[in-house]
Order: sequence, then structure tokens, then C-alpha cells
Amino acid sequence: MTAGRNVGEFHVTAVSDGVLVNSNHNIIQGIDKAESERLTGVPYGQTLPLDVNAFLIRHRGKLILSDAGSGHTMGPTVGMLPQNLRAIGVPPESIDILLITHLHSDHSLGLVDEAGRAVFPKAELVLHQVEAEFWLDRVVQPGDSERVQKNSAAQRRVTAPYGGRMRRVNDGEVLPGIAARLAPGHTPGHTNWLIESGGDRLLLWGDIVHLASVQLARPDATLVFDVIPDMARATRQRVLEQAAAERLCVAGAHLPFPGFGHVARAPGGYSYAPAT
Ligand SMILES: [Zn+2]
Repeated sequence: MTAGRNVGEFHVTAVSDGVLVNSNHNIIQGIDKAESERLTGVPYGQTLPLDVNAFLIRHRGKLILSDAGSGHTMGPTVGMLPQNLRAIGVPPESIDILLITHLHSDHSLGLVDEAGRAVFPKAELVLHQVEAEFWLDRVVQPGDSERVQKNSAAQRRVTAPYGGRMRRVNDGEVLPGIAARLAPGHTPGHTNWLIESGGDRLLLWGDIVHLASVQLARPDATLVFDVIPDMARATRQRVLEQAAAERLCVAGAHLPFPGFGHVARAPGGYSYAPAT
């Protein structure tokens, strides 16, 4: 399953990692049960399936990949990024650069295989400095949630094989035509990548919206995975407003595959239209 689009000199292809099936309504915070059911169309207690998309960016012979997929530990319905890359003639071994939006399992555990080896053996791993400091450098605090402690350990493990090939970046251009934009809250260093070329733009927005059916209509709704929920909410509102005002094409890691679309203001929130 692929779908591609041109952004000036760039060509961006959505590549599926699969569908996560381990979430239910309990991950949503800030709206009541009835509204959660109404927005998702899924009865309480049932699974909320979630697409996991990665984006392959081709530019001047370079192969750049945004996010690394879920790997082999999150169930049989995800972890298909390597095989789906091979299916379009791009083996993981050929990827030159990895842009990681944030260090959460479904975006980064695919960095390594079952033996702990790098799945993308020649790729430079590009990560925001703030994200690297939070998950990889920071001493775990007694007040940290179990979720944060466990994830921190997992992220140190999966990024270790990339140690010598990791580039920590700050906001601004990180590759010709691609800029990092810190969009914090979901994780402290969650990063949007803005591609700009030939007057065209595409915003890879990671998990600005994790559950599209809920968080576009109700951007105030947060998730149990948000490390700093209030900040995640404020960032989502800011990015959605910018995307709507500027008619920016966005690419979402969990928007319905292939994940390209536009947002528009709607009463109380935003609406979403897949790109044509
Ligand atoms: Zn995610």
C-alpha cells in the first residue's frame, strides 16, 4: 500500500507500517463516553484501530524516511514497514536519513530487528535535541510515570546501534528544503518536519493528531500517551490553526492511510479532507 505526491523537487510516498489494534476508548481524556462513541463510531469497550504511516522522501538521489515503524514487539498487525519498503524497491538498507518525529514505540521500535541490529544500517538518525535529551540523556526521576520509565529504557536500546550516526538538531533547516519545527507536548521534543520546495509545502506532523476521528473535532481531547497533556493540547491547537489558515498540506503518522490531507476550521474544532 503506497501513495505518493510531489512537493516541488521532492517526492513523498506514504508507506504503511500496518494498523495498531491495541487501543480502546480508555486512551482518550477530556471528553465523555457518549461523545467518544459518537465521534469514533465505535462502541465503548471495542478496539479503536489506528493506521501507522511512515513517509519516504526522495530528493536528489537521497532516500529519507520519516519514522521507523513499530518493529516486531507490538503485535502481528504492525511492523510491516521493512517489507512494504522492499515491495516498492526501497530496501531498508538503502535509506540514507531517518527523520524521527518522536521517540514513541510505534515510531521508533522499528529501528532494530529481533536481534537488536539496526534495520537501517547506513542511515543517519536525525532527532530533535529536546527529544534526545528527554528520553536518552535524562536521569529517570522517581516521579516519572511507569510509562515514561519503560519508554525511556526502550528508546535507549533501539537508538544505541545508531549512536555514531545520530545527529541532534534544533529548529531550522536540517537538510536542504526540510526544517525541524518543535511541536512539544505529546512528547517533550515531538517534532514536525516542514518540506518546502518550488513554492510547495508539506508538513509531516507526526502525532499532532493521534486519533483523527476525535482530536480534529475536539482538539482539546488529550491521550494517556501525552507526556505533557496541556502542552500537547496547546500545540495541537496552534498547528491545526496554522494548517487551516495557510491551507497547508499535512502528512500524519496516524491519519487514515496514506495520511495526506488538509484541515479546515469547523464549529468547535476542525474538519479533515484527504488530499486528492
Ligand atoms: Zn504514534
